[in-house]
Amino acid sequence: MVGESGSGKSTIGRLALGLLPATAGRISFAGTELATAAPEALRTLRRRMQLVFQDPYGSLDPRRTVGAQIADALSIHALLPKAAHAARVGELLAQVGLAPEHAGRYPHAFSGGQRQRIGIARALATGPDLLVADEPVSALDVSVQAQVMALLADLRARLGLAMLFISHDLPVVRHLCDRVIVLYLGRVMEEGPTAEVFARPQHPYTQALLSAAPSLHAAQRRTRILLQGDPPSPAAPPSGCVFRTRCPQAVPACATSIPPLLGTTHRVACINQA
Ligand code: SF4
Repeated sequence: MVGESGSGKSTIGRLALGLLPATAGRISFAGTELATAAPEALRTLRRRMQLVFQDPYGSLDPRRTVGAQIADALSIHALLPKAAHAARVGELLAQVGLAPEHAGRYPHAFSGGQRQRIGIARALATGPDLLVADEPVSALDVSVQAQVMALLADLRARLGLAMLFISHDLPVVRHLCDRVIVLYLGRVMEEGPTAEVFARPQHPYTQALLSAAPSLHAAQRRTRILLQGDPPSPAAPPSGCVFRTRCPQAVPACATSIPPLLGTTHRVACINQA
């Protein structure tokens, strides 16, 4: 899921995990609607859905060993007898490229990339089916970003995880994601297979985002489309198409109705594409 800051990406990630109540619409996971699920069903679902945080520094408690913090999830969900926690924590650390003996160390002993690996190990502790990764590499150095992305891609393939990857970084999304959702002011502008959307963006907002993204390949470089102004407040969005105040292709009809998301596998919300 991509979009500028303030587009609602993180909010949707938290809604998907049931960490925020939805004011409208439905969110289902594995056939169960979160808003109406019984507490026990919700508890089971929560075990199957985990969050990887953006900030590897702020998301770990500096006063507790990383092993204790990873084991918290095992205790909270009563997944294993306490005597088995240490072995499981060691496995989880090895799974993210760290050593089992790192369990006894405190967060300050690790680099940013290692802390993010610890955050991923903690998220994997419950054996989730879905990881929501909210800008998981944006706080890291570029060289470390590639390593953590490779780890996430490897875990996804090896463990059969579904992953909702939230980012404002288009090259990262292109590298990692099968499908992409482009969000603007809380609304989906375009959605489809990543390769297709990147090769043939249909929505003016996606076209502008992609025109600003760096590319090493000359054939993929586009003429830069500069968007005027800042996004409006999500609390007071424009009428009709929420993108119309910055859209280079806007026409008067864009102010009167919200364009529906149309298409089959590649969908676009723009009256010019209807
Ligand atoms: S509906 Fe109008 S304002 Fe919105 S993206 Fe399309 S052309 Fe631009």
